[in-house]
Amino acid sequence: MSVSTVSKDQFKQFVEALIRSDQRVVGVQQRNDRFVFDDLATADALRLDYDVTILSPRKYILPQKEPLLQFAAGESYTPVHEGAPMVLLGVHPYDMASINQMDQLFSQDEYDSHYMNRRQHITVIACDVVTPSENVFAASMGTATVEKGYDMLLTDIGDAYVVQAATDKGKALTNLMPQARPASEADLDKCRAVQEQNQQKLNQHVLECKPSYLPKLLEKNYEHPVWEEKARLCYSCGSCNQVCPTCYCFDVQDEVNWDLKSGTRYRAWDGCLLEDFATVAGDHNFRKNRSDRFRHRLYRKGKYVPGKIDGQIACVGCGRCITACTSNIANPVDVYNQLMKRTDIG
Ligand code: SF4
Ligand code: SF4
Repeated sequence: MSVSTVSKDQFKQFVEALIRSDQRVVGVQQRNDRFVFDDLATADALRLDYDVTILSPRKYILPQKEPLLQFAAGESYTPVHEGAPMVLLGVHPYDMASINQMDQLFSQDEYDSHYMNRRQHITVIACDVVTPSENVFAASMGTATVEKGYDMLLTDIGDAYVVQAATDKGKALTNLMPQARPASEADLDKCRAVQEQNQQKLNQHVLECKPSYLPKLLEKNYEHPVWEEKARLCYSCGSCNQVCPTCYCFDVQDEVNWDLKSGTRYRAWDGCLLEDFATVAGDHNFRKNRSDRFRHRLYRKGKYVPGKIDGQIACVGCGRCITACTSNIANPVDVYNQLMKRTDIG
C-alpha cells in the first residue's frame, strides 16, 4: 500500500489524464437534484462530494441485460464474454462492500466467468463519504468505511485528497499524479478523523442489534405478523430490488433471430418482490403472496446470503430502498427493529 497526498487542483489534472487514456472512465455526476454513475467527459463533471447515487455501480459489473451466448441450429453455441478496461471513479465504501460480496458469491461454487471477466477489467477508485445521504445507515452495518476491494481509495481532507493505492492497478494510476507527495502524519490524522467520524455519523436509521445477530433473529421470526402488516402496502413494484447494490438475481431469456435458426441467450435483472419472480413451469408460483415475497427479501439479506459468505449481511446500509419505496415499507432497519421489539432475545 502506498499513501500519498494530492491537492484538489492536481487531482483534477489526474482525472483529465485518465479521461484521455485508452480506458473508459465512469464517475459520479449530478442529474437534477440526484447523482448517477455515468461516462465522464470532463473532470469538472465529477462530484466526489455526492451523497448517494440512484443506482449503485453494480450496473457496470452485472449489467441490466447482458448476452451470455450465441446459438445456431446444428452448431455448438459460442459463449459471449464482455469486458473492456474501465475505471469506476467515486465508489463509496458501502458500495465497495457490496461489490466485495458479489465477487465472493460469483467466484465460489459455480464460477461465473461472465461476471468475473468484466470485474477483472474494472479498476475501482473508491472514496470516503463527504455528505451523508438522508437514509444511509452504513454505520449500523459496519460498511461506513472499507478496507479491501478497491484499487485506490481517496479521502477528502479539505484542500487535498489522501490517496491510498492498494493494488498494482492502483499504483500504476499514481503515475498519472506526478505532483503527489508522500502523505504527512498530519494528513493521515485528518484521513483517520474522516473515517472515524463516518463510522458514527452515517447512521440515519439505527439498527438495534449487531448485524451478526440478524440470522438468529430471523430464524425465530418466520411466522411473525410484521411480514403481513408491511406487505399489505406493497405494490410488488420491485424498486427496492432494482436499486439495491446487493441484489443480483437475474432471469435468463433466449431471443431468436428472424431466421428462426439462431439467436442470443441473455440474462437480465430480476427482483424477488415482482409477482412472477417465483413462477415456474405449469404456472405454479411458490411465492404467490406478497407477504412471502416481502419476507423473502429480508431473509435473503439477513440470513440466506450470510450463510454463503461467512456471515456477511447482504445489506450494506446504503438506504436506496428506503428512498425508492413509495409505500415507505422497505426500510430493513425498521423491520429488523420491529422484530427485536417483539422477540424474546436469548
Ligand atoms: S437492502 Fe436497502 S439499504 Fe440494504 S443494501 Fe439494499 S438498497 Fe441498500
Ligand atoms: S419498493 Fe416498496 S412497494 Fe415496491 S416492491 Fe419494494 S417494498 Fe414493495
